[in-house]
Amino acid sequence: MKSDPLFSRNRHPNETIVKIGSEKIGSNKIALIAGPCSVESEEQLESAALFLKKQGVSVLRGSAFKPRTSPYSFQGLGDEGLRILGAVRKKTGLCINTEVMDVRDVPKAVEVSDMIQVGARNMQNYDLLRELGKIKKPVLLKNGLAATVDEFLNAAEYILQGGNENVVLCLRGIRTFETKTRFTFDPGLIPVLKKETHLPVMVDPSHAAGTRELVGPISKAAIAAGADGLLIEVHPDPQKARSDAEQQLDFVQFEQMISELKPVGKAIGRTL
Ligand code: PEP
Ligand code: MN
Repeated sequence: MKSDPLFSRNRHPNETIVKIGSEKIGSNKIALIAGPCSVESEEQLESAALFLKKQGVSVLRGSAFKPRTSPYSFQGLGDEGLRILGAVRKKTGLCINTEVMDVRDVPKAVEVSDMIQVGARNMQNYDLLRELGKIKKPVLLKNGLAATVDEFLNAAEYILQGGNENVVLCLRGIRTFETKTRFTFDPGLIPVLKKETHLPVMVDPSHAAGTRELVGPISKAAIAAGADGLLIEVHPDPQKARSDAEQQLDFVQFEQMISELKPVGKAIGRTL
């Protein structure tokens, strides 16, 4: 008889809690990972880090390797971006989440970070998933642009099968015929995933929204539907951002949004 996959609830009736520093993703406290889309300079990342630390955020995001639709768009600072992530991590004590696209970059990204992100465009990069199965650090796996829940869970299975149990799923919306949001985010998928798997489920409202105004409302829906955490793009000066300028929140907007999310969390018995 075929046994249940490793992601399955049947294999693991309790929730998996993924620890990153003091953050416990999957616990009663809704986790926050925030920071700029791209690492642009040490000043930019440090400014975001110091602000977010004051807000109680303990995991900073920032990408050095960017999967851009056009090869002419900013591709990220690469190795220099990793150096900056390492420097800001050391200076602020924050944990780092950063994206890797290429198997060859895994070892050096692991050195300067605490969590590796697999972006939507790499959800089915099986060589990368297998490689991340060999590390111990948590992996944030985003759903592919046109992935079904089964495909998403099977991508997670590649990492689990390698022996890395620290997988966090992150819903970031899918492509549909609707164009008023950048991607279509279905909050109904949170309870669906919760039923199928013991892995924590985060939501990235920023890429689903595409515009700042929608980040707060989508975050509220995500929390109300049971998300274990949010991944939010925050930039010291979003208008000047080298990627995703339209959807990144500035510091004032982030602080305001968190204060509006707290009562939503409280209504379902969770803290933020
Ligand atoms: C990102 O988090 O910056 C990113 C590129 O997201 P996604 O892979 O979901 O498009
Ligand atoms: Mn982005």
